[in-house]
Amino acid sequence: MSDTVTKPTSAMREAMMNAEVGDDVFGEDPTVNALESKAAKMFGKEAAVFCPSGTMTNQIAINLHTQKLDEVICDHFSHIYLYETGGYAANSGVAINLIEGRYGKITADQVEAAVKSEFDWLPHSALVVLENTANKGGGSIYRLKELKPIRKICQKYEMKLHLDGARLFNGLVETKESTKDYGSLFDTISICLSKGLGAPVGSLLIGSRQEILKARRFRKVMGGGMRQAGFLAAAGIYALDHHVERLTIDNQHAKILGEVLEEMPYVTEVKPVESNILIFDIDQKRSVPEFLKLLDAQGIKAVQFGPNSIRFVTHMEVNEMMIARTIDTLKKLG
Ligand SMILES: *Cc1c(COP(=O)(O)O)cnc(C)c1O
Repeated sequence: MSDTVTKPTSAMREAMMNAEVGDDVFGEDPTVNALESKAAKMFGKEAAVFCPSGTMTNQIAINLHTQKLDEVICDHFSHIYLYETGGYAANSGVAINLIEGRYGKITADQVEAAVKSEFDWLPHSALVVLENTANKGGGSIYRLKELKPIRKICQKYEMKLHLDGARLFNGLVETKESTKDYGSLFDTISICLSKGLGAPVGSLLIGSRQEILKARRFRKVMGGGMRQAGFLAAAGIYALDHHVERLTIDNQHAKILGEVLEEMPYVTEVKPVESNILIFDIDQKRSVPEFLKLLDAQGIKAVQFGPNSIRFVTHMEVNEMMIARTIDTLKKLG
């Protein structure tokens, strides 16, 4: 259904139990501090701030990089547009400028065409937000060669560039591209620890020291100052140390399911499977809720992702046996 459902493993729970903690609102939780500096270093950035959710890290980033009456440029499938309750408008007073990309990905040319001229009556284009992997795009992955030209356009028009990297590591284990290169391309990066990485709670916003100092203030006003958050940060450290490489397994599982779905007579389209997300359309003979009910009866959780669309997400609690059983079920439904 989603990689957010993963529960901490016993080794992760042990790391959490043993965490040294303090009051993070005063900057005195050693485990939170360790997680933040670990993440910053990974991306070659100066600082990071630990937050309760990826929605919060994205909302803080939008707030950092914009002023009221600005606009954010992003793909029309973006999480910041679709799934953050319109927070860009409420929290930062900005408009959104949507691009119709391909599988949730936009190009430098599209970004340049979307930049608005400097007239009084137009919002000011201040920020570009990219999503990698792109959730509603079917888990599609940006390559550095696509990202560099977008960075150039941002420089040309003095716009900031933020990455919603909720599932960045699902992409990086495929492309083998480096986190440091990502750090040098983006002003800020948000990563989620509670998706495929399997931590119970938490996201990180990574950026320059100055930006992160400001980010801490905005985190506080959103109610995100968490006191002895080291118990949660310990899970995050454990996840970064032990659960990144294994994401290739989840990606592989999704690919296998994708190949099976391609063959099913009732499937009309499967979005290209690049990581751990699988989005497919079924024909009109059965409604999506009906189809989901049949899957659910076999213990297979999926969600509706459009009128005829269904999303599968593979994660660390979906093992080989469950993939085999899912394949059996999909074939029987045909
Ligand atoms: C899950 C997700 C987020 C953050 O979600 P939270 O549930 O608030 O942690 C942000 N962007 C994308 C693409 C996501 O999938």
